[in-house]
Amino acid sequence: MDLRKLIRDIPDYPKQGILFFDITPLLGDPEGFRRAVDALAERFAASGATKIVAAEARGFIFGAALAYKMGIGFVPVRKPGKLPYKTRSVSYDLEYGSDTLCMHEDALLRGEKVLVIDDLLATGGTLSGVVKLVEEFGAAIVGIGVVIELTFLNGKQQFSTYDCESILQIA
Ligand code: 5GP
Repeated sequence: MDLRKLIRDIPDYPKQGILFFDITPLLGDPEGFRRAVDALAERFAASGATKIVAAEARGFIFGAALAYKMGIGFVPVRKPGKLPYKTRSVSYDLEYGSDTLCMHEDALLRGEKVLVIDDLLATGGTLSGVVKLVEEFGAAIVGIGVVIELTFLNGKQQFSTYDCESILQIA
């Protein structure tokens, strides 16, 4: 099955000049969605992860399905003001400006093995924010998994010291 056929290319979204890769056809295709989640589960089966950490919104979709499949916990990473309990936060740089991500302060234990998941790796800004936050807890990142990697942006380079894997590469 060619998962690329289930990704829709949307020119000029969300801004002029940006080509957006829309995952909703893949999500709506039962086999495609299952294959994407199963491929991540197989790839990280031996990771020993006890928690999956993923950022809103699209990271939740794959992260939660994968946590269920792997039989491990799920930890949501959210934008400021969205989590009800006490939080820890991290700010990270984007191409234009910066962003902040938050996690509940009791979400991870020191030394806990974490698998970080997202739908897509572009510049790597979002994932590096999540990685920074997880490491502030003293947790160990045993893998970084994404469904789609935009290889022409070379975002994966900054995760060379991690076990970072994508299911579908778009060049
Ligand atoms: P990065 O931070 O690596 O530049 O961008 C990746 C993040 O932005 C991911 O959390 C992803 O959900 C979102 N994103 C950026 N570009 C796209 C895209 O073309 N398609 C999808 N589905 N998400 C994108």
